[in-house]
Amino acid sequence: MNTSVIGYPRIGKDRELKFASEKFFAGEIDEDALQNVAKTIRRDDLLKQKEAGITYISSNDFSFYDNVLDTAFLFNVIPQRYKDLGLSELETYFALARGYQGDKGNVKALAMKKWFNTNYHYLVPEIDDDAVISLVGKKPVEEFIEAKEFGVDTKVTLVGPFTFLKLAKFTGSKKISDVYAVLTAEYIKLVSLLASVGAKTIEFDEPYLVRDLNSDDIDLFKEIYSLILANKGGAKILLQTYFGDIRDIYSEIIKLDFDLIGLDFVEGRKTLELVKKYGFPSDKILVAGLVNGKNIWRNDYKKTLSVLNETGVENVVLGTSCSLLHVPYTLDSETKLSSDYKKHFAFAEEKLAELSELSAIAGSDYENSDIYKNNQKLFEGRKDSEDKEVQAKVAAITDADYVRLPAREEREKIQKEILDLPLFPTTTIGSFPQTSDVRKNRQEFKKGLKSKEEYVEFNKQKIAECIKLQEEIGLDVLVHGEYERNDMVEYFGEHLNGYVFTEKAWVQSYGTRNVKPPIVWGDVSRKEPITVEWSKFAKSCTNKPVKGMLTGPVTILNWSFPREDISIKESILQIALAIRDEVLDLEANGINIIQIDEAALREKLPLRKSDWYSEYLDFTIPAFRLVHSKVKPETQIHTHMCYSEFTDIIPAIDAMDADVITFEASRSDLQILDSLKENNFKTEVGPGVYDIHSPRVPSVEEIVNALTKMRAKIEDSKLWVNPDCGLKTRGVEETVKSLTNLVAAAKQIRG
Ligand code: GLN
Ligand code: ZN
Repeated sequence: MNTSVIGYPRIGKDRELKFASEKFFAGEIDEDALQNVAKTIRRDDLLKQKEAGITYISSNDFSFYDNVLDTAFLFNVIPQRYKDLGLSELETYFALARGYQGDKGNVKALAMKKWFNTNYHYLVPEIDDDAVISLVGKKPVEEFIEAKEFGVDTKVTLVGPFTFLKLAKFTGSKKISDVYAVLTAEYIKLVSLLASVGAKTIEFDEPYLVRDLNSDDIDLFKEIYSLILANKGGAKILLQTYFGDIRDIYSEIIKLDFDLIGLDFVEGRKTLELVKKYGFPSDKILVAGLVNGKNIWRNDYKKTLSVLNETGVENVVLGTSCSLLHVPYTLDSETKLSSDYKKHFAFAEEKLAELSELSAIAGSDYENSDIYKNNQKLFEGRKDSEDKEVQAKVAAITDADYVRLPAREEREKIQKEILDLPLFPTTTIGSFPQTSDVRKNRQEFKKGLKSKEEYVEFNKQKIAECIKLQEEIGLDVLVHGEYERNDMVEYFGEHLNGYVFTEKAWVQSYGTRNVKPPIVWGDVSRKEPITVEWSKFAKSCTNKPVKGMLTGPVTILNWSFPREDISIKESILQIALAIRDEVLDLEANGINIIQIDEAALREKLPLRKSDWYSEYLDFTIPAFRLVHSKVKPETQIHTHMCYSEFTDIIPAIDAMDADVITFEASRSDLQILDSLKENNFKTEVGPGVYDIHSPRVPSVEEIVNALTKMRAKIEDSKLWVNPDCGLKTRGVEETVKSLTNLVAAAKQIRG
């Protein structure tokens, strides 16, 4: 059986691309040096796949920053303000990606958005009325030829025109209907160019098809592709979809003249059903995405092979469910993890081996093969993954555990009396600047260069200073500063049973930013109190209220590699119980304001609206309530979200039943306030009054203005005053100035 890989990681096995790019940005290496690093990565990636015997290997899956940006660049979708800088081609590309500030001008980067339901982010192409869409670049052609020189005959992968247009932002009066014909014509030029240099298969990635589509979308797709498919120029065209099933358009797509169609059988809940119901044309090849491109567990060959059989399709290629971009390079780099664990994981390289094993045994009497038997042994049970006590606790959860009593209104009264805060209370989101001394202290402790006592002593000193600073500034609800945390998820994961950590399992988040998600290995419980000592110490430094700081269960799970042997719901509940232990401990130690951050709650919202509640919110929101339902009425629960795009799920956010929520608002023009009012939002709110993502210091007047707008929509008694997000990445000086202005603004309004 033939095999196909949609895309391979491209940051380099040891993040070479990140380091080289950063040196290039800093002017330490020139463009040639950076290009050489990129070329080596492309070569290594291709040869790995070739060695593994993969049939369809992609070229053009590489990117210096992002494939959607590459596509915009390829077709000249470059706003004039970037061209005006007069930079070199690569520098212009990076200006779109990162913004440019220098002697040639000052422009902001394009907006960045999450790539479907992944933690990868793409740059949003801007199509203005002056855009002259035209095939100006050669990247796909060059990378195809280069791959050939490396000895690999590739399929060329492209972001498809439908997805590109649906993701683009139209900044002028033009709409998709005004530009799609031109764009399609330029894609056709590209197809013929590729065919002329010998490309036999061209892959069009159209993940947008897994979203809810209306009849206009379906017409647009058909219109675009009937043109492209009538002009194949001798190449075979692969329509590649991923991140779900294409239920709205499947029956139409199989009628079009595609040569190969790639479907996702891992995340596509209905994919198999669709194939069975509508059939699959015998003159086409089905690329069956069965090796999970998003998670790191070994493939269950039994499942995979039985799905392959069930499709009843004759011409099948076995593929990945999506690009392998979303998993780390290789388990080889993990020197500390024992093989007891490793044998259960498959990163990109190991997934190649799985594809070739599966292709070797598929179709045959596989059940008797050693490959199959060895694989099945992995699923007989895993060392240490079970904890009966945790399982029993989850099983014992009752409906009452999801309900906090008394009702919020009553709690609000009690809390107002006990906390005795002024109107428009001021606070921050938790972290204070992580200066180099803070990071050094933590690193030295981790490396064993510092004793635990020395490490703790240093942090206590920092906390004491932070409290003093907040008192001087005049904030009302203080925080300890989060100096002990590297990252809001990893830090908690490290204190939970059931988590496994890697050394080099980096995955691209955006551009040169990579993340290293921990792995949920087994049943989760709390090893020991996590933050209690820090919060207690902070409280001992002041008479003002100190807010405890935790990360919520949904965010912890969303930023980890989840288990596949139990449901996401089950895992989230386990984590919720662990964090609940911490909440109750904080409360028992006199911390009567506790913030439970859910920075990533929105992230895994299903791509189809019809699934939002049934597949996600119906269990994530109760899981959040489970964390705080047992606290006393007088304990005030805060939550925080790093975005304000929840206009469409406001009732769900209110149903988290927190007492206070802080969120980002300053960059989104306060639009959300109207929706809060319309939905009769009950939770007290702290819409961020200034943007912490920039070093700019907001003036008192500016903050007063923001607050005045907020007061028009939010009752005074429910309005908090705080920045957008944590101050971790900011400098000390700007932080002090900004917070001083924030307090002054609150005082002015009170007056
Ligand atoms: N409490 C965290 C902080 O202040 C919240 C971070 C976040 O929302 N991403 O850093
Ligand atoms: Zn935030």
